[in-house]
Amino acid sequence: MSRVVIVGGGAAGLELASLLGRSVNKQDEVILVEGETHHYWKPRFHEIAAGTFDNDLDSLCYFSHGAKNGYRHYQGRMTNINREEKQLVVYKTNGETDTLAYDYLVIAVGAISNDFATKGALEHSLFLDTPEQARESWQQISALLRSGEQRTINIVGAGATGLELAAELAKVSGKLERNPHAARLTINLIEAADRVLPNSPLKMSQQAQSRLEKFNVNLLLNTRIASVDKQGMTTSEGITLDADLQFWAAGIKAPDWLKNIGGLESNNANQLVVQQTLATTQDPSIFSLGDCAAIPQADGSTVPPKAQAANRAAVHLAKSLLGLMQGKTLTPFVYKDGGMVVAIGHNYAISTMMNDRLILKGRLVRRLYDTIFRLHQKTVSGFLTMSRLIIAKRLKCIFQPN
Ligand SMILES: Cc1cc2nc3c(=O)[nH]c(=O)nc-3n(C[C@H](O)[C@H](O)[C@H](O)COP(=O)(O)OP(=O)(O)OC[C@H]3O[C@@H](n4cnc5c(N)ncnc54)[C@H](O)[C@@H]3O)c2cc1C
Repeated sequence: MSRVVIVGGGAAGLELASLLGRSVNKQDEVILVEGETHHYWKPRFHEIAAGTFDNDLDSLCYFSHGAKNGYRHYQGRMTNINREEKQLVVYKTNGETDTLAYDYLVIAVGAISNDFATKGALEHSLFLDTPEQARESWQQISALLRSGEQRTINIVGAGATGLELAAELAKVSGKLERNPHAARLTINLIEAADRVLPNSPLKMSQQAQSRLEKFNVNLLLNTRIASVDKQGMTTSEGITLDADLQFWAAGIKAPDWLKNIGGLESNNANQLVVQQTLATTQDPSIFSLGDCAAIPQADGSTVPPKAQAANRAAVHLAKSLLGLMQGKTLTPFVYKDGGMVVAIGHNYAISTMMNDRLILKGRLVRRLYDTIFRLHQKTVSGFLTMSRLIIAKRLKCIFQPN
């Protein structure tokens, strides 16, 4: 009998738990350690923050999903590992600490925003790293929208997260324009690089930029934030940008507690360093994937921190780990990038394809953005459930009042 413990039920961990849970032998056990009760698709956290997320149809309860898909949800947060004893240390929701034995351990705890030790950023900014933070953001945005006055929101970082948040908020604010009690929002999107989506092709940045300008989002490019306080932000050139709410969505790193945990190798961004098989360099029974792992490729590159990469690595590891449990050897994970899709408001998206040679945009591309989420749903819950959820969503859109 083998016990596989997966830590983190996000884009990577939930897919892995579902695929393994449905495939392992009866005597084997799959446990998913996750602090939350429900799974939310992280690329939609900005929708939770903007109040446009559908909680009923787009979230999943780990407890009941696990029962149907052959894994057990253990609610708690990993804090340490004892590699000699092959035990995980878990902090439970009731405040107690417990240990959990494993034969194979998979760490998929994702990443958090990197504040680059900017003074005051942690204390005075909102983040979108966890569902709780996204919900807290909505509480604050909701109160702001009801104020009926001119309000300002600063968002630091014009990568996918910051840009999608700025566009969604602008769209919500636009929809409330005719409501005399709603606030008028000024949204400042602040970026240290000279363009939005700095890691994407130039043409994609230009098209995203012109779309944001149509939404009246103020783009402050080549602007580095030096400090944040209650009233606003100060740039490295001493300019103050006052705001009622401020978000930090610049850069990512793995959580600080992961650094060299249990003597495992990690990099500057706290990511666990793994081999191409996804096994950690120091311990063949511990694996890591998703945003918290530095996964090398044969050409010397590392796999990017993207939902699509997390999903593909999960599908690969499920097969490879099942093989290992049957006495086969692990296989290397080869990542083929399928491009990138960024949503700009509810009905529009921009995407790169064919190794960034083709850039598509528009309403249909927004459907493609949704497809990535639907494929995730198909992997974790099956084709039938995914289809039922799509139909339910369509019907809800048609029949619910605007
Ligand atoms: C607003 C936003 C928009 C984004 N848009 C895009 C996009 O358009 N395209 C794209 O490709 N990517 C996008 N991303 C990035 C994408 O969400 C991540 O790359 C992806 O979710 C990584 O998957 P993961 O499984 O590694 O981590 P996650 O999905 O973050 O899952 C990690 C899980 O681990 C759990 N966890 C954390 N710590 C512990 C612990 N100590 N113990 C137990 N469990 C723990 C968390 O609760 C979480 O459920 C976006 C991210 C954000 C925040």
